[in-house]
Amino acid sequence: MKAVAEATQGRALMPVEEALQRLLTFAVAAPIRETESLALAHCDGRVLAQPLVASLDLPPWPNSAMDGYALRCADASGEPLPVSQRIFAGQAPAPLQPGTCARIFTGAPVPEGADCVEMQENVEVLDDGRVRFARPLTAGQNIRPQGQETRAGEEVLAAGTRLGPIELALAATLGVPTLSVVRRPRVAVLSTGDELVEPGEPLGPGQIFNSNRQLLISWLERLGCEPVDVGILADDLAQTRACLAGLRGIDLILSTGGVSVGEADYLGIALREAGELDLWKLAIKPGKPLTFGHWQGVPVLGLPGNPTSTLVTFGLLARPYLLRRQGVDDVTPLGVDVPAGFDWPRAGTRREYLRARLESGQACLYPNQSSGVLRSAAWAEGLVEVPEGQTLQVGDPVRFIPLSELLG
Ligand code: AMP
Ligand code: MG
Repeated sequence: MKAVAEATQGRALMPVEEALQRLLTFAVAAPIRETESLALAHCDGRVLAQPLVASLDLPPWPNSAMDGYALRCADASGEPLPVSQRIFAGQAPAPLQPGTCARIFTGAPVPEGADCVEMQENVEVLDDGRVRFARPLTAGQNIRPQGQETRAGEEVLAAGTRLGPIELALAATLGVPTLSVVRRPRVAVLSTGDELVEPGEPLGPGQIFNSNRQLLISWLERLGCEPVDVGILADDLAQTRACLAGLRGIDLILSTGGVSVGEADYLGIALREAGELDLWKLAIKPGKPLTFGHWQGVPVLGLPGNPTSTLVTFGLLARPYLLRRQGVDDVTPLGVDVPAGFDWPRAGTRREYLRARLESGQACLYPNQSSGVLRSAAWAEGLVEVPEGQTLQVGDPVRFIPLSELLG
C-alpha cells in the first residue's frame, strides 16, 4: 500500500525537464532586447548581441612558425646560401633576393619570394656566414599562411555567445575594441523569512544568518545579471507591499524561502494581489517547491529556502532561464558519466542531486546530504544526478555535473 501511495505521489510531481522547458518557454517570450556597446575589458560574462565578423584575414600575412631561415625550397639542395636579411617580428621584410635565404624569427612576416622556413636546429651555419640546409624542404613548411585561422567576412562568434576570456581574446585578435552585448537583466533578490538576519547583525533566539542572498548575488553577477539587493522581507503584509511597490525596472523577482499558499506567506499574498503565481511541485531533491508567475507583468521565480535547495534549483532552473532571456542558445550544463563510488539501494520518487567529488575517477558523496547543509556543496566538485526510480551499485554509471559548469 505504501509503495502505491509513493508511486502515485511521484507521478503528481513535475519532472525537472518539464519545469525547465516551461521556464525556457517563458524566457523566450520575455527576451532582453536592449543592447549596449562595451569595451572588451567590461564584457566578461556578458552575452554577445550581434555576431562578431572578421574585418581582416588572420593572420593578416604569411608568417614564420619557427625561429630559422626563410628561403625558396628549390634553393636548399644547391650550394650553401648567403643570408640577405634578418627579419624580426614586427618588421616589414624586403622581397627575398634570389639565391639567398633570410634569417627569420617566430611571428615575423615571410618575405615575398620565400616559400618555406627551415628550423635553425636543422641548418649548419658556415664560418663565412652562409647557411647549409641538411634536409630536403617542402613548400609551405613552417609557414602560417595568410587567413589560415580566419578569412575577412567570416562570422567568428554568433550572437548569443557568452563572452569569457577566450572569446574576448579572439575579438582582440581581430582588432575589435568594443562589443555589442545584451543589457544585464536586473534581478531583484528577496530573502523571505522572519528567522533571517544579515551577517554582522546579532543573532537572536531562533534566528539564522541569511546565506541565500549572498549565494544569489554573487552567482547572478557571474551570469551577466545585475542583482538588485532587496534584503530580508519581514513577515508583514504592509512592508511586503511597500517593498514590491518600490521595485523599478526589474526583469525578474527572485525570492528564496517558501512562497506558498500558507497564511504567513506575505510575499505570496502581495504578489498575487497584482499578478498570478503557480506553485510547482517538482520531482527534484533537494528543492521540491518552486513558484513561478508574474507580478505587474514582471516574472517572479520563487526558490525554496534551504541553502542547497536554493543552490540546486537556481543552478538547474533559474540559471538556464536567465541565460535564455539574454539570448543564449545552449544553456545545458555539461555532464559526464562516471562510475558511482557509492550504493544507492532505495529508488526515490524525485530526481536527486547529490553533492559529490571525483575520487580515483569515481563519484563519492558528502556524508551528509541534508538540504540544509551548505558545507556539502563547498566540499563538492559537482552534483551527481540520480534519476527518479533508480537504484545504483558501486561502479554503475551516473551523470556528474561539475559545479564549475553551473556557477559560470
Ligand atoms: P522555507 O523554504 O522558507 O520553508 O525554508 C526552508 C529552510 O531554509 C528553513 O530552515 C529556513 O530557515 C531556511 N532558509 C530560508 N531562507 C534562507 C536564507 N535566505 N538563508 C539561509 N537559510 C534560509
Ligand atoms: Mg521560510
